[in-house]
Amino acid sequence: MSSTVDVNWQEIHAQAVELLSEYIRINTTNPPGGEEAGALFLRGLLESEGIPCRMHDAGDSRVSISARLEGSGGSETSPLVLLSHIDVVPAEAEHWDVDPLSGAVVDGTIWGRGALDMKCMGIMELLVMVLACRHRLPLKQDLVFVAVADEEEGGLMGVHYLEREAPELLRSSWIFNEGAYGFREFMGKPTRMFGVAPSEKSPCWIRLRTHGEPGHGSVPHSKNSLVALVKALARIEEREKRARLTAPVEAMLNTLKGQGFLPEDLDPRDDATLEALGELDPFLHAITHDTVTLTGVHAGSKHNVIPVNSESTLDCRLLPGTNPDDFVEELRSVIDDPGVELEVVLQHDSGQSSMDTPVTQVIGEVLEERYGNDVCVLPMLSPGFTDSHAFRKAGGHAYGFTPALLSREELSTIHGHNERMSVENLALGTEVLFEVTRRLACSGPSAR
Ligand SMILES: [Zn+2]
Repeated sequence: MSSTVDVNWQEIHAQAVELLSEYIRINTTNPPGGEEAGALFLRGLLESEGIPCRMHDAGDSRVSISARLEGSGGSETSPLVLLSHIDVVPAEAEHWDVDPLSGAVVDGTIWGRGALDMKCMGIMELLVMVLACRHRLPLKQDLVFVAVADEEEGGLMGVHYLEREAPELLRSSWIFNEGAYGFREFMGKPTRMFGVAPSEKSPCWIRLRTHGEPGHGSVPHSKNSLVALVKALARIEEREKRARLTAPVEAMLNTLKGQGFLPEDLDPRDDATLEALGELDPFLHAITHDTVTLTGVHAGSKHNVIPVNSESTLDCRLLPGTNPDDFVEELRSVIDDPGVELEVVLQHDSGQSSMDTPVTQVIGEVLEERYGNDVCVLPMLSPGFTDSHAFRKAGGHAYGFTPALLSREELSTIHGHNERMSVENLALGTEVLFEVTRRLACSGPSAR
């Protein structure tokens, strides 16, 4: 199906820049969130185009929004969802070159918190809805826009609120969300690779607690809770770490071989090779291992008092296929001290979507028509997690796919300082996402 829609892209690109700049200026920093203002902004734009919206109010200005364009497929087909989150992480303004909430447009770049994560994609998706409506696309499946609150703090007031209060929104066939960007350079070489993440690592956040006996710091004894905690943490850090290959990482490494970034004779299925790859780079280590990052220690109240209780937080991320119960048991045996309590404080399975679906096929087609052979789709495993897990759990195939080609420097601004997106990337992403969505939604999930 080739393009039959005559879009005035120049006008849409200019609108995209204006809208992203305005969206960034709406403060949705989480905590506390205040996503209602963002949801109202999105509703105003959608409703002015005649697209009906629903607000999902979890209280305390924690509001998500959904909008739907109906397809002709009826109940035979399930929707295509364009997902984003409204909230952004806090910014340390003193380290920025511009006000992080300014949405300043300078030299072809839009600056501000959320420019990449992920108000940019919210605007691309909004414009896909607007164009689908204006041009009366002959949709087979419903096209659903979902922008949620509270992604950055785990989703209790956002996607998990929707799971409870509007579960029908999560039942869908295809979902586009954050989770993978494209690269304009890789390992120091220029390239044009669009990341697609069918899967993410799963969080398994753990709190360790130790208990002992009090005492004066001048007389050490053997029941110091902090000593027990430090010993446990040292064992965790020194444990044996084994690399494991998963389907998305195997596909990613094979693609990188094909693109000349890795030696042609490299065999990712060889354990020693995989282990060696992980040592090259923290990202490669993260996507080939179940990881534990020590992120906090809380103990003691006074310089000369032995603490009775000590605790530590561990940010553990599991590869697809790792059983969280087995993982916790393994940590227990590594710690080898029955006095150390382990409590799992956050855990879900991120789920896995297939790379062998019409979605990835259509993405490939659209990019090839645009760039010829000078482009590739890079399957990825995201080391972080997103709201996609809730949609995968409800039966859909969810993909991290933000079609923007970023430099290493631009990528480093996500959750960092001077976050920004080029006008060119915003235009590219809007065009690609529209075309991919159009082809999929006008065919319907059962027709391909
Ligand atoms: Zn995000």
